[in-house]
Amino acid sequence: MSKKYVYLFSEGNASMRELLGGKGANLAEMTSIGLPVPQGFTITTEACTRYYEDGKKIGDDIKAEIMTYIEEMEKINGKKFGDTENPLLVSVRSGARASMPGMMDTILNLGLNETVVRTIAAKSGNPRWAWDCYRRFIQMFSDVVMEVGKKYFEALIDEMKAEKGIEYDIDLTAEDLEKLANQFKAEYKSKIGADFPDDPKEQLFAAIEAVFRSWDNPRANVYRRDNDIPYSWGTAVNVMPMVFGNMGDTSGTGVAFTRDPATGEKKLMGEFLMNAQGEDVVAGVRTPMPIAKLQEVMPEVYEQFTKVCEILENHYRDMQDMEFTIEDRKLYMLQTRNGKRTAQAALKIACDLVDEGMIDEKKAVAMIEPRNLDTLLHPTFDVNVLKAAKPIGKGLGASPGAAAGKIVFSAEDAKAAVAANKKAKVVLVRLETSPEDIEGMKVAQGILTVRGGMTSHAAVVARGMGECCVSGCGDIKINEEAKTFELGGKTFHEGDEISIDGSTGYIYDGLIPTVDATIAGEFGRIMSWADKYRRLRVRTNADTPKDAAKAVELGAEGIGLTRTEHMFFEADRIAAFREMICADNVEQREAALAKIEPMQQGDFEGIYEAMQGFPVTIRFLDPPLHEFLPKEEWEIAELAATQGKTIEQIKELIASLHEFNPMMGHRGCRLVVTYPEIAVMQTKAVIKAALAVQARHPEWTMVPEIMIPLTGEVKELKYVKDIVVKTADELIAASPIKIKYLVGTMIEIPRAALLADEIAKEAEFFSFGTNDLTQMTFGFSRDDAAKFLPAYYERKIFESDPFAKVDQIGVGKLVKMACKLGREVRPDLHLGVCGEHGGDPSSVEFFHKVGLDYVSCSPFRVPIARLAAAQAAIKEAQ
Ligand code: PEP
Ligand code: MG
Repeated sequence: MSKKYVYLFSEGNASMRELLGGKGANLAEMTSIGLPVPQGFTITTEACTRYYEDGKKIGDDIKAEIMTYIEEMEKINGKKFGDTENPLLVSVRSGARASMPGMMDTILNLGLNETVVRTIAAKSGNPRWAWDCYRRFIQMFSDVVMEVGKKYFEALIDEMKAEKGIEYDIDLTAEDLEKLANQFKAEYKSKIGADFPDDPKEQLFAAIEAVFRSWDNPRANVYRRDNDIPYSWGTAVNVMPMVFGNMGDTSGTGVAFTRDPATGEKKLMGEFLMNAQGEDVVAGVRTPMPIAKLQEVMPEVYEQFTKVCEILENHYRDMQDMEFTIEDRKLYMLQTRNGKRTAQAALKIACDLVDEGMIDEKKAVAMIEPRNLDTLLHPTFDVNVLKAAKPIGKGLGASPGAAAGKIVFSAEDAKAAVAANKKAKVVLVRLETSPEDIEGMKVAQGILTVRGGMTSHAAVVARGMGECCVSGCGDIKINEEAKTFELGGKTFHEGDEISIDGSTGYIYDGLIPTVDATIAGEFGRIMSWADKYRRLRVRTNADTPKDAAKAVELGAEGIGLTRTEHMFFEADRIAAFREMICADNVEQREAALAKIEPMQQGDFEGIYEAMQGFPVTIRFLDPPLHEFLPKEEWEIAELAATQGKTIEQIKELIASLHEFNPMMGHRGCRLVVTYPEIAVMQTKAVIKAALAVQARHPEWTMVPEIMIPLTGEVKELKYVKDIVVKTADELIAASPIKIKYLVGTMIEIPRAALLADEIAKEAEFFSFGTNDLTQMTFGFSRDDAAKFLPAYYERKIFESDPFAKVDQIGVGKLVKMACKLGREVRPDLHLGVCGEHGGDPSSVEFFHKVGLDYVSCSPFRVPIARLAAAQAAIKEAQ
């Protein structure tokens, strides 16, 4: 049998959402449970996919099938397209699998032409309504289908209102509206060069195509990328007989939620307008009335509606968001869906539904959108002010939260501003950040960079601190020296005010007030359920005791990555570290390292204490050494003086450390192969700290995990490991306290994944460094990819940023392979991931499926990972 592309509402049900889209499936479901739904049909998402496969054409077979269903619909409703007795008018609405509110197109009142208008005007005795429908249809069809902007028609309406000295559309008479309809048609002809189509079927096919086309409009593409919705899904199209809320004072239309979408409180929320059509409620031309008022206006309809709400909530066992129309005192349901809600409302609703016996704990965990939790943990913009604000640019939403403040262009200026006034709020704007900016980043409200992707320094560090960051806004033209930048046609200077949204990536001119995060009471309850059902452990990436303590507070069960280099930039130790780099021989290097060792030991003790006995993985030095050397002339001079060298000698050293591809250069374990004494020092610091903390806390079992970065060859790993083991064993042998320790490696070079069975002979654990693994597998620089990835999205080569959401088929294949090969050699090989993907919900699901033991992410993403891990386990069990 050939594929079926069209379904009557009476042929579907809620389980068919992949095929019928959310709206279509729910219209079918409402039909099947006997609710009043105007009876039409749904053209499937597969028809949309075919439309694109066929070169943006509706195939003849699908057209023929639609024609059959038009006839069916005509029969069911006893009305016909274009009929002079009983004409049929329809709405044409999009409806994807996942709801994408406002992203795609809708056309109402389709099927009208002069003859039909006159027919319905005479039949209803309501010419005003008939002409109102017609002018609305011409306007919507022109805008949505033919892309003649709304503004031309709105200008004509405004002109007419001004002429007549009236304020509201409802004060226009039938004659006015007829005149407007004719003006609209003339406008259409002048823009398109052809008459406005009269044939309802021609109108319908054009509208269906427009809805298919709208799947690919820019705002839908952006929404999909932000919400993890695949392009391949396509949208369904719902064709439904019109019911009229604009038939007079006994008609109306509205939207309602069964619970408050902002707070989750159990009470009917919504608004409606009498004598209006759907778009009037959202357009804000007239102020709608609260839904409770409907009880006064039409008590019997209100009662029926509240019953429908109850039925729907009980049926779907979730808060519903509904659209309804009242046509001459008769209620019709036009849509229902699980309502969008704030994170706070989501938690409350889930808990309430459990308490009401509507759902179980697993369902409650499954219904929370993990990413939504961000708004509970970070400041957000005041929604009302945000609504009115217009973004002037967009970068990557690299670290969630909202920041508003005065622009500064350097970390020093940020520090100085806050030192001068503790309450000063600054946003640090940089071409890109580097490790030495860390203190300035800390005191800023937020960070905005021109360059850099989702795993750039700015993104990773900001996420670690829980601070807002928008990275990679390539549209900014920055002049750091002059302390200015240009964006959105405006030049900004130091001290000017901007606001940035680290969740959406939007940048705004001026200050938008922020609201602090508050963790709702239900948060702990949902998290405890999540912990009950997840298998994956959740660790954190933390480099300081403060970050570690925050992560524990948010539920981290260990540290999966401490980037030791981040500590070297603190003012008190950068000097010793530079001394190490400037050393001419091993003895000098060891002397410098000896100065750093107690500081590192102190850092590690602090981190162990903060982690309260949870496992801690410490990664040895990773970045290339040139990152630690000064760039400014005066700093170079200062370093030369303290090192007893000439400025020229320091400049020569800097030149000798210059690398063409630093990310593929002298870094990671390669540093230890050339300077083994670095590993000796770091091992000493790790083990001495563990022994000291073990002595202070006999109740904990300290097992430090030493992690070697950037391994690509087992002999290289063995060389480093031997140094670690010799140093550690000597220290432990000499100590009255005994501890165990582990030596493992990061898998972040594709060769290490390919040879994981070899590597596993020497490694007691693997931690996938998916930032570098993504970089090296794609051959995309993690700091430069943001520049060209937008072109990849536009050309549909990529749907998402591989540095944010793990590439499951490529990079993921390496991860899977390495797990399998590694465990074949060492069945108890402990497996985790510490790349930024460890905090991304869909990536977490993948890591669960692959069988990792844990994911590790920045402290503020720990709750997200816990929830995503539980959802993955629950989904798998089903
Ligand atoms: C990685 O590469 O995934 C990783 C965690 O290390 P870094 O981001 O420090 O290179
Ligand atoms: Mg790495």
